[in-house]
Amino acid sequence: MPTRTQQQPQGCLTVLLKLIGIDLGKGQQKHPYRLRDDFLSAAELSFFRVLQQSVKEDLVICPKVRLADLFMVPQAEGSQAWRNKIDRKHVDFLLCEPATMRPRLGIELDDSSHAKQKRQERDQLVEAVFEAAQLPLLRVPATRTYSVLEITEQIHLNLAQGENSPLVEPQFHQGVPICPKCGIKMVERTASKGTRRGTRFWGCQNYPQCRETVPV
Ligand SMILES: [Zn+2]
Repeated sequence: MPTRTQQQPQGCLTVLLKLIGIDLGKGQQKHPYRLRDDFLSAAELSFFRVLQQSVKEDLVICPKVRLADLFMVPQAEGSQAWRNKIDRKHVDFLLCEPATMRPRLGIELDDSSHAKQKRQERDQLVEAVFEAAQLPLLRVPATRTYSVLEITEQIHLNLAQGENSPLVEPQFHQGVPICPKCGIKMVERTASKGTRRGTRFWGCQNYPQCRETVPV
């Protein structure tokens, strides 16, 4: 199998200029980055292909999604500690709606490392995070082969469960609504564009991470 040779760090022009005493690279720091060959492990890639057959064009598959890009912690005392808990954690796969990229389902591929205690603690935390944010999470044990039909069924079952989350009516405190998602006071805003331009509404202080609104 042909392999790619390491790219020449210097172009022809750079070499020529160097010959006549001009060094463009002087004072410039060389960045040491190289492309990893293991973006997805063999097990992840094999499952990714099954997922592709399963969800087809209906959902977009995002591998290795950072939990901090998916979940937020509303600003409050001690919220940084909660943010730190998920700071360096990822979910193996995330399924999103194609038009809006709204997250619909997280999927964890459980290999043998999930039996280790440290990993189990991590798994429990991730499960709790998904549950708190009401995003369904599906755990699939890693195997040599998968049944596309079985995976498809499990995905649809979990998606349906996610849709059944009850709508929460906002509570008011001294006439100000409390964001039903974040539990903090909302602020009055005026729509600046769209068909509702000029309309006043209550919006969340965590906008754009939280887009909950309540009519004034
Ligand atoms: Zn909110």
